Parts: sequence; structure tokens; C-alpha cells
Amino acid sequence: MSLADFDRYPLLFGPSPVHPLERLSEHLGGARIWAKREDCNSGLAFGGNKTRKLEYLLPDALAQGADTLVSIGGVQSNHTRQVAAVAARAGLKAVLVQESWVDWPDSVNDKVGNILLSRIMGADVRLVRAGFGIGYKDSWQQALAEVRESGGTPYPIPAGASDHPLGGLGFANWAEEVRQQERELGVFFDTVVVCSVTGSTQAGMIAGFAGQDRPRRVIGIDASARIAETRAQVEKIARDTADRIGLGRALRDEEITVLEGWAGEAYGVPVRSTLDAIRLTGGLEGMIIDPVYEGKSMAGLIDLVRNGEIGRDSHVLYAHLGGQPALNAYSGAFG
Ligand code: PLP
Repeated sequence: MSLADFDRYPLLFGPSPVHPLERLSEHLGGARIWAKREDCNSGLAFGGNKTRKLEYLLPDALAQGADTLVSIGGVQSNHTRQVAAVAARAGLKAVLVQESWVDWPDSVNDKVGNILLSRIMGADVRLVRAGFGIGYKDSWQQALAEVRESGGTPYPIPAGASDHPLGGLGFANWAEEVRQQERELGVFFDTVVVCSVTGSTQAGMIAGFAGQDRPRRVIGIDASARIAETRAQVEKIARDTADRIGLGRALRDEEITVLEGWAGEAYGVPVRSTLDAIRLTGGLEGMIIDPVYEGKSMAGLIDLVRNGEIGRDSHVLYAHLGGQPALNAYSGAFG
């Protein structure tokens, strides 16, 4: 099988925009930095990386006769907000388990941003007290059982749509999109920088790029502060996706790179370098990034360019995966 053999339900505007970050590149004085913008990839509730992944899960849900998408994340999960939007678009219901993954003191944390949008879109939002974890959770299994007991047909979508047989396909397709855009723009991105937590974004990219002629580095920046788990999950999904799309060879260990150093102590809690990266990117480019994910991966990119790990002659593609709605729950960090 190849990627083209999988059903895809179009949820995006088309290829996401790619553009140079000239002032940021100038400021850092090293590599040329560009961004590919998943934060404006779709008209569905501000889009983001999960909307792209869900293009491949939705046809499976519809083929199975599901009437309810059931998923899970933190209170300010971007993923569950995108599940709510996709359910609305497809005429399905959404049950969203929102766990207390982040110990963040903002008094409107469970009222604004992503969770507000999910409520507006008619999702059944359930607040549950339980800590951060990317594995299968009891609260999610219980929500699935409840939908079944009430006569519904649930479609289970794990955290981040990642640990799912089709979870890596969206970003394998992104890799192909990048190849086509490079041809149009006359540029080759030798390095891609991407934030990793539940893993299938980076994993899909690795599997997709592995089938192309010209090798490049895909550098994952961990934002979960649990590097061993993130690395293991990226590797598992990358290998599985590569098999699924018929790569025809095993991925090499050096194709799977996830770096630690910018997540701070805990998932969802920004540190100094996160807030500096958010202010720098906003102030130089008018490009807004969030304190949970993209602020951390941008902090990584900035350091890697500054310390020469990403060389001066490099063309870097920063994958902006979305997530700005969560900023509303972090106003205290910028006061
Ligand atoms: N960036 C944003 C804005 C996200 O919402 C997520 C979701 O977890 C990520 C990055 C990380 O992607 P993944 O969970 O596929 O590793």
C-alpha cells in the first residue's frame, strides 16, 4: 500500500502556507528560517496539526458507522478542540474528556480558549481530575463505555490522534506537500524543526520524508518533559507508519531524533526560554506561538541556530503546529 491508497476526508484549505521568517533569521544571524503554517491550515476552529491527522481518521469513523467521536486531552487541549470542530463539520457528536494535565493557576483556565471553543461547537465536554499521560486512560475507556451503553456508536481517538493505526498518515502527507512546495519555491529545507508530545506529527514526517530521494534532518523538540516516553512513542509510530505506507525498508535509528532541554519541569508549564521565544517571534515577525508547545520548539530552534548545531548555510523549516487559543489561559505569564 502507498499513502495514496488511504481515504482522506478534506478538512484543510489546501497546502498550508510556507514563508520565510526574514527578521528572525537576521536577528539570529545564522541559518535561513522559514515557517509552514498549520495554525492557519483550515477554516475549522483555527485548525492545527490534529485537523491534518483527522483527515485520515474521519473516513474510518464514517465507514464504521460511528456517530460520536470520543477523545481525550488536557483542559486546554488543542486536539480535543479540533475533534469538536471535525465532528461538527461531519455531523457527528463529540465527547471530550478534559483532564487536569497542567497545574496552572489561571482562574479562567477551564473557561476560555480551547475549551470555550469546544463548548461553542456543541461538544459534550467532561472535566476529569487526572494527571498528564499520553497512554490510554481509564477516563477515556469509561466515556467510550458510556456512549455504547446509551445506544451510540463511538469512534475512539486517543490523545493527539497519535497512538492509532492511521495517526501518522496526516504528516506523511505533509512531507509530500513540503516536497511539492520546495519545487515551486526553488528551495530545499535540509532541517525541519517540530514540537513533539504525543508523537504522530513528527513520526508521520519521518516516515514521509524517508521515502524521498534527498535526505534531511527532522529534529523533534520534546515539550512533555518526559523524553524517554516521547522518543519511544515517536519511534513506534514512525516505524509503524513507514510500514503502512510501504516504505520498503526499516527506518534507521539516526532518522529518529527527539531532543530534550526546552520543556522545563512539566508539560504545559512555560519556562523563561519559552516566554522569551514567544515574545521574540511575536515582536520580530508578528507570528504568534503558544506557551505549551510551539514556544518550546521555537526556543529549541533559536538555541540550535545560535550554537551552530544548525549551520549558517542551512535552510530550516519550522513546523508551526497551531495552538494559539490556549494563550487565553496564560495571560498571567505576560502581565
Ligand atoms: N503543537 C501543538 C500546537 C499541539 O497542539 C500539539 C499536540 O500535542 C503538538 C505541537 C505536538 O504534536 P504531537 O502530539 O503530534 O507530538
